[in-house]
Amino acid sequence: METHSGDVAVSLRRPKGRTAPLGLPWPQVSREQWNDYRWQLSHRITSVDALAELCRIPAEEAQRLSRVTDIYRLGITPYYLSLIRFDDPDDPIARQCVPSAEEVFGAQDGEDDPLEEEKDMPVPGLTHRYPDRCLMVVTNFCSMYCRHCTRKRIWTLGEAAKTEFELSKMFAYVRRHEEIRDVIVSGGDPLTLPTDRIEHILKGLRKISHVEIIR
Ligand code: SF4
Repeated sequence: METHSGDVAVSLRRPKGRTAPLGLPWPQVSREQWNDYRWQLSHRITSVDALAELCRIPAEEAQRLSRVTDIYRLGITPYYLSLIRFDDPDDPIARQCVPSAEEVFGAQDGEDDPLEEEKDMPVPGLTHRYPDRCLMVVTNFCSMYCRHCTRKRIWTLGEAAKTEFELSKMFAYVRRHEEIRDVIVSGGDPLTLPTDRIEHILKGLRKISHVEIIR
């Protein structure tokens, strides 16, 4: 893993009684880099091997987790990793972002789409369940992938944003349905999109006169 150097070494959060992950490989990162979401994104931990090295996960367990991430991808920013108390097996931050074998073993008891969003999806990516509102999934990408996510099924489609064509289909649907006054722009994390793409989505919705709320 690449190590960056900078002017001011960041003091990673080590509250009293907590243990920062051993071998955190960015001891010299500058505060400016650390606080820059682009640096965080470009240094995400995305493989079990990298995670195992940082968190001293035993080889056998790492192998089991690799079988999970073969299906449900892994993504943890250095910032999020630095919040984990590795001396606590039930650390809530770790539970949120570190894969667990339970995600796939016994998966036959669960649902890929537990909220049944796909059943109310008239065009790909747009869920219209309640008459006056709809939800647009504009990207599959998240900086960190929550293990409890109810949209894990879209992770398997790759870390991609919706294309202009796909967005235009969603806009057309909203235009045709005058009962829709509230649009939720969702994902993935829409705020990871480039500014001009966010602007394109907001402007596209703003042009539809019956849409009163965009959130
Ligand atoms: S969509 Fe939300 S819950 Fe799912 S991984 Fe992204 S941030 Fe987490």
